[in-house]
Amino acid sequence: MRQIAIYGKGGIGKSTTSQNIAAALAENDHKVMIVGCDPKADSTRLILGGRTQITVLDALRQKLPVSTQTLIHTGFNGVCCVESGGPEPGVGCAGRGIITAIETLEKLHAYTSDLDFVLYDILGDVVCGGFAMPIREGKAKEIYIVCSGEMMSLYAANNICKGIARYAPLSGVRIGGLICNSRLTENEEALCEAFSQAINTKLLYFLPRDNIVQKAELNRQTVLEFAPESSQAKHYRQLAVAMAENKDFSIPTPLEYDDLEQLLWQYGLN
Ligand code: ADP
Ligand code: MG
Repeated sequence: MRQIAIYGKGGIGKSTTSQNIAAALAENDHKVMIVGCDPKADSTRLILGGRTQITVLDALRQKLPVSTQTLIHTGFNGVCCVESGGPEPGVGCAGRGIITAIETLEKLHAYTSDLDFVLYDILGDVVCGGFAMPIREGKAKEIYIVCSGEMMSLYAANNICKGIARYAPLSGVRIGGLICNSRLTENEEALCEAFSQAINTKLLYFLPRDNIVQKAELNRQTVLEFAPESSQAKHYRQLAVAMAENKDFSIPTPLEYDDLEQLLWQYGLN
């Protein structure tokens, strides 16, 4: 079983991308589970066709029965789905939800031996203890960061790399690469390529921006389900293969802020 964490800035496309990757992996007969680690609890919506599921934290808070039947739902292509959920707004720590969710899944023996991939979809604007938990504790040893050519997404990616580098020696966590989810900024692919080399990893895949993603989302489906023959679906399949075949993992070397800014000047603005 490979446990993979997908990090990145809010709104960058983590949930969309990870659900499409999950659908593509499942298409290739892999058994996949997605664990949503974002208080928004929308990491599994497309796989479940818009059905909302009870989150681990809600179940615990409302004293509902905590079982694999209530917390793990199966959706498109047989992908299993869990949402950690979050605290009530304004109260408590969102990161805590992730720790509780993973501990609960372990107690329920939800990490069954037939699983090939577990994908954690994790908000990465903040890398507080809770959000770092899957990498700190070595639950997920493999990290991919979704980014774009936009400054704030690279700033977030760089911060996430600081977290990975800190925990790498003890937990064994490594970065497997960056996924650029295009925002159509100037020189975007070259910038992400240069940034990935500067931080000692690689650009695993460049995903084009395509309105089919939004159309599929409106229909509460992954692109793989909504438009399986589309070019975007093919990109997600290729990305899933790149991930499944990846054997190239490293400890990232995050940049100083000035160096990151320099890189943006060099590529982003001309
Ligand atoms: P995150 O999980 O990182 O917060 P989402 O996956 O929810 O981000 O994506 C945010 C929005 O961007 C969604 O409305 C989604 O449809 C859109 N989106 C994501 N990837 C693409 C893409 N490659 N092309 C077009 N729209 C995209
Ligand atoms: Mg999300």
